Amino acid sequence: MAKPMTIIEFMKLFPDDDACLEHLFQARFGSEYKCARCGDVGLYKKLTNMPAYTCSCGEHVHPMVGTPFYRSHTPLQKWFYAMYLFTTTRHGVPAKELQRQLSVNYKTAYRMGMQIRKYLAYVDADPPLGGHVEIDETLVGGKHSGDGKGPQAQYKTIVLGMVERNGDVITRVIPNVRRKTLEAHILKHVKREAKVSTDELHSYKRLWMYGYDHESVNHFLKEYVRGDRHTNTIEGFWSIIKRSIRGTHVHVSSHRLPFYLGEFEFRWNLRRHPEKMFPTLLRRLSTSLPTDF
Ligand SMILES: [Zn+2]
Repeated sequence: MAKPMTIIEFMKLFPDDDACLEHLFQARFGSEYKCARCGDVGLYKKLTNMPAYTCSCGEHVHPMVGTPFYRSHTPLQKWFYAMYLFTTTRHGVPAKELQRQLSVNYKTAYRMGMQIRKYLAYVDADPPLGGHVEIDETLVGGKHSGDGKGPQAQYKTIVLGMVERNGDVITRVIPNVRRKTLEAHILKHVKREAKVSTDELHSYKRLWMYGYDHESVNHFLKEYVRGDRHTNTIEGFWSIIKRSIRGTHVHVSSHRLPFYLGEFEFRWNLRRHPEKMFPTLLRRLSTSLPTDF
């Protein structure tokens, strides 16, 4: 298995802002970038007094425009270091930690963290899961169960998780655990021919009608494994999330929760290719997110 980047490798690759800008240029335009004005390919020089490049014809290219780095007062290398932290941790990066490591103020650290989380969470389309899929729902964040009388942040949010064994995980924040709610997500994200394992929750009982090879284990009756039927994989995923949210994030509001979940999905889905995490994140950050995300 390839290894994640070490701090020594990071410092070699990204010794200063200019080196980071160069990588951003490459991630965004590739090495074959063609000048919009004269058509020459790959003949760009860094301008000395601004974060931009110029073609021999005088045309300027600004790699940061349209990315979160543009108009940010935080130097590019600090952004890159924050991305490094996010792609090398297992537990997530609390704002306090970013504040300390980057020596920026708390507000800046918090904003950077949320921005990076959004990009970690953003995927155009999750490919549907197949093979053997474990499905489970859980409560995350907040102090209380319930659907909220009083400040929302106090209440736990319901999250549905679907994980393909040896494959990807997909999570969604859901309003309730009614059959129709769960089925809508499962039908969208799990292939019909999949084998599906869940707990005994009643809302899963009709999955067979859609063609799923569904069986449940009865946690209520202390049955956790029957043959290859269990939900240990998705529960392992939940425990990573819960430990980090409890341990490092004071509280996560329900409308921000999908970004935190997305962060953990990203790491889970690339867990066998840690070397791809940083470049994948950099490629995503070199674009703008849709405004409704
Ligand atoms: Zn040119």
